[in-house]
Amino acid sequence: MKKIFWDKGHGGSDPGAVANGLQEKVLTHKIVEYGMDYLQANYTGFEQRVSRAGDQTLTLSQRAKMANDWGADVFISTHINAGKGTGFESYIYNGGVSSQTVALQNVLHGEILAAMRQFGNVVDRGKKRANYAVLRETKMPAVLTENLFIDSNDAKLLKNEEFLKAVGEAHARGIAKFLGLPQKAKTAPSQPQQKASAGKLYRVQVGAFSDRKNAERLAEELKKKGYPAIIV
Ligand SMILES: [Zn+2]
Repeated sequence: MKKIFWDKGHGGSDPGAVANGLQEKVLTHKIVEYGMDYLQANYTGFEQRVSRAGDQTLTLSQRAKMANDWGADVFISTHINAGKGTGFESYIYNGGVSSQTVALQNVLHGEILAAMRQFGNVVDRGKKRANYAVLRETKMPAVLTENLFIDSNDAKLLKNEEFLKAVGEAHARGIAKFLGLPQKAKTAPSQPQQKASAGKLYRVQVGAFSDRKNAERLAEELKKKGYPAIIV
């Protein structure tokens, strides 16, 4: 079971970069949520966690520690750039890194750039290295993505929900490729299997799970199998 740790770049009292009516934290939360949903829908053989399910404030070191303590196999931090430039860039630590880290950056960079270019002529700013805390302090292959600029013409794309979805899904595909996750078998659109469980309602208790999201996932899984479930 591979472990994937997602870091929503900013949150809580730290909105990240703000411009053009956009907040970096809102955009990065959406990208991560789209990515996590895509993995859940299309792949097996993994667990995923996120630095913040809601809008909590976390330090950089807290996020690295969460991933280290859990023993994550990959760490992905999503950000939106600022400084009036244009385009996409990705980062790994500028100290000693494993060949695995370089491989993760390569696959993510390619997937994300290709997805962005479905929406227009997005500039490739390159695969870069920097001394960022989350990259330095994490023990597993870690990549930080800067997904366009919030304070330039790039904002047009960042206001497009389909673009954010495509970027999130590209992150997910990159991670899946890197980890070699098996794809879920495609199932035919729902057959009438409801009858088997007619009258029975499964109650998924949030308290039994570390957070509501996990409870929702189980409820969703039960529904897919034809068992109506409610979260209580
Ligand atoms: Zn940021």
